[in-house]
Parts: sequence; structure tokens; C-alpha cells
Amino acid sequence: MADKTFDLIVIGAGPGGYVAAIRAAQLGMQVACVDKRGLGGTCLNVGCIPSKALLESSELYYQAQTAFSSHGIQVGEVSLDLKAMMKRKSVIVQKMTAGIRGLFRKNKVTSIAGAARLMGKGQVAVAGEKGEEVLKGERILIATGSSPIELSGLPFDGDRIISSTEALALDEVPSNLLVVGAGAIGLELGSVWQRLGAQVQVVEFLDRITPGMDRELSDGLQKLLEKQGLTFMMETKAESAEIKDGALRVALKQVDKALEATCDRVLVAVGRRPNVAGLGVEEAGVEMDEKGRVAVNEKYETSAAGIFAIGDVIQGPMLAHKAEEEGVAAVEMMAGKAGHVNCDAIPNVVYTHPELASVGLTEEQVKEKGIPHRVGKFPFLGNGRAHSLGAPEGMVKLIAHEKTARGLGLHILGARASEILAEGVLAM
Ligand code: FAD
Repeated sequence: MADKTFDLIVIGAGPGGYVAAIRAAQLGMQVACVDKRGLGGTCLNVGCIPSKALLESSELYYQAQTAFSSHGIQVGEVSLDLKAMMKRKSVIVQKMTAGIRGLFRKNKVTSIAGAARLMGKGQVAVAGEKGEEVLKGERILIATGSSPIELSGLPFDGDRIISSTEALALDEVPSNLLVVGAGAIGLELGSVWQRLGAQVQVVEFLDRITPGMDRELSDGLQKLLEKQGLTFMMETKAESAEIKDGALRVALKQVDKALEATCDRVLVAVGRRPNVAGLGVEEAGVEMDEKGRVAVNEKYETSAAGIFAIGDVIQGPMLAHKAEEEGVAAVEMMAGKAGHVNCDAIPNVVYTHPELASVGLTEEQVKEKGIPHRVGKFPFLGNGRAHSLGAPEGMVKLIAHEKTARGLGLHILGARASEILAEGVLAM
């Protein structure tokens, strides 16, 4: 028997779920938000926030060693206190998750700890510390996010073969770190450990890094990362790993050539898969798309009446701000208001140094679509502000429609690219 009733039950308290829960409460709904880990989801606990904290700390450490003296700042010998760096990261995470707790309280969102499972129409079973309880909701919003993909030949062991979660909390700098996957997560965490002293080798199955970003700028970023000391093995597949004489040996295949890499640790960062296991989607009649994501229509409705889904668990880029926007749009539409996410204007940033930031179509995409266009480029080498930052590398690429001059894409490789991009996002 259902023992608690809500207008909306949100499953998952990540950036999609907690934002949706708060907005729904502001619109007058009685809302419960269930999460098995606590508040903040991947983003606040083991994603965006801790990675950005470590990127900032490691960049300062690197700058103190390599760039301060050119500014006329002498600091003597620079040393690393990794424990303090990790503590700073954890304090930021704690502050941010406590902030959500405060917002839930203020907006009267009921926060429930436990693993949720759909139970037919309007009911959710929550297995918590004190056993199972059943919640009843007029509507249910699935915002269960995603988890790192495991490679069958390199199963995660939490110690030597790790995912991004463990790579954000190592207690010592590895001598040799092998990163499998040259996407945003692999390159950001590879950069962190490289700056802190690890030899970092990146293995990538494709012939390019950061797939989905403009090719010319991706290639430019690869060259700059190589200059910093990262090495890349392209068109290479990591097949298996074994420990021999204390060292981790990873079998690689580069096209037809069998190779081996020796390292202390392997970070597998080959993408993320939607979290639907154990959620009871099949029993509830929620259909999946061809990629195993929850299928939704433009109102974020699933195939089961009264059940909605947003964020990493559905189609589209796996990004926190995309999940948040969808959370707001979904509950506003539930409340009979207009809600819309402009998928053509979702910014995407790789927070390496320099940053690679992008919005809209790449040059490859406009060519593929046959859109008449013009490309404008400007190198940071010709920009005084870039020189004063000590970062004259990279460029800005603007792609506009040939006839209407409407902006189609903006791509920036350069220091603080994420901040410069914001104006372009607004324009688009
Ligand atoms: P999540 O944040 O994954 O939250 C889902 C929540 O649902 C989790 O807390 C989980 O415990 C809970 N849950 C799952 N199943 C159940 C269940 N059955 N019952 C109860 N609770 C459940 N994005 C950016 O935009 N910018 C970045 O810089 C960035 N950096 C990243 C760095 C790293 C290392 C990683 C791993 C990710 C990064 N991301 C970044 C991606 C971002 O974290 C995700 O896109 C975002 O968290 C998705 O939000 P979400 O609400 O859909 O899901």
C-alpha cells in the first residue's frame, strides 16, 4: 500500500533532478526527490565540480613551477601537498551539496535517501536504510543520470584499473598513468595528473581527440597537450590488462599491430552509459531507444503515462547544464507552461589548458549538411590580452551562413575559452 503521496516524484538528485525538484516546488507542486547516493549527483560529487577543483589546483602548481618566474615572481622550490589539494576539493563538494540541502529545505522539497524502483502506475518503491517504503506520485521524473562504461578486457578494480571517480581521489601521484579515451574526461583528468608529475599516455581508438568538437581545433589542442608532455597513441585499442612483477601491462592493438604499455594505473574514460539497471523500466512500460537510453518525446514524456525523463539518461550531450535546462523545461510543461531547450545552443567545454569551448555546428558538420557558409578565424597570437595572460596559443573560429550571416557555430581554443564562449551562446 502506498503510504506517501506527492504531485511529483523525482528519481535522482543530480543537476537534472535537483533543479527539476526545486522548480516544480516553486510552481506549487508537492515534490519528493529520491537519491541513493546523497544530493548533487555525478556532477557535484564525482564529476564537474571535483574535476574543476583539481584542474584549478594542478594548473596553479604547474604555473608556479613554469610560469611565475617570467612574471617576476620568485617562489623558491615549489612542492606538492596532495592531501591538502584533495581536502580543498572535498570541502568545495561538501559546500555545494550542503547548498542543495538548504535549497530543498527552503523550497519544501522532501528529500528521500534510497534506491528507487518504478512499480506500475504512479508508484515508486524506495529501498532505504530502514527498509522499503512506497511513494505515490501523480507524476514521476526519471533523472538517474549515467555511469562510466567498463571495458570487458579492463574491468574496474577501483585501484589499478579505475574510472573517473577514483581518478578524482588518488592518494599519490602515479608515475605512469595510461588514459584510455581522449574525450573531455580523459583529457581533463590526464592533464591534472600530468601537471602533478605523472607521465601520461593517452590511448584513443579514433584518429582524433575530442570527437564531436571542430576537428581543426581538436588537432590544435592535441599539439598543445603534447607540448605539455602528454603522449598520444591514436587509432589504438586497449584490449586487456594484467599485473606482472608489480607493474600493470596493458595489451594494445594499433590497427593490426599488437603493442604493450606498462603503467601504474589505467584510467578508462571511454564514455558513460545511462543508469537504468534495477529501475524497473521494463515493468513500468518505459521504452528505451536504440542506444539504451530512456526514449522521450519533446515534452520529456516516456512511453508510460505520467513518467518523464531528463538528463544523461536520455538522448543528447551528457552535460550538467543540459540536464538542468531539461529539468526546468520538463516541470514547466507539466505545470502547463511553455518549456523549451534549444539543443542547437548547448555549449560544450573541455577544461584543459588551454580550454576548448564550442557551441553550434562544427566546420565538418556544416560541410556535411551542405550549408553555404563562411568561416572566420583569428589566432590568439594577435591578441594582446592573450599575451598578457601568457597564453597566446589557439584561435577563435566563427562559422556563419553565407547568405544570412546567421551564426552557426563558434569554436574557441584558448585560455579562458569557456568564458569568452558565453557571449556566442547568447547570440545563438
Ligand atoms: P547525475 O548527475 O548522474 O545524477 C543522477 C543521480 O541519480 C545520481 O545521484 C544517482 O545516485 C541517482 N540514481 C541513479 N539511479 C537511482 C535509483 N534507482 N534510485 C535512486 N537514485 C538513483 N558536465 C558539464 O556540463 N561540465 C563539466 O565540466 C563536466 N565535467 C564532468 C567531469 C567528470 C569527471 C564527469 C564524470 C562528468 C562531468 N560532466 C560535466 C557531466 C555531468 O556530470 C553530467 O552530465 C550530469 O551530472 C548529469 O546530470 P543528471 O542529473 O542527468 O545525472
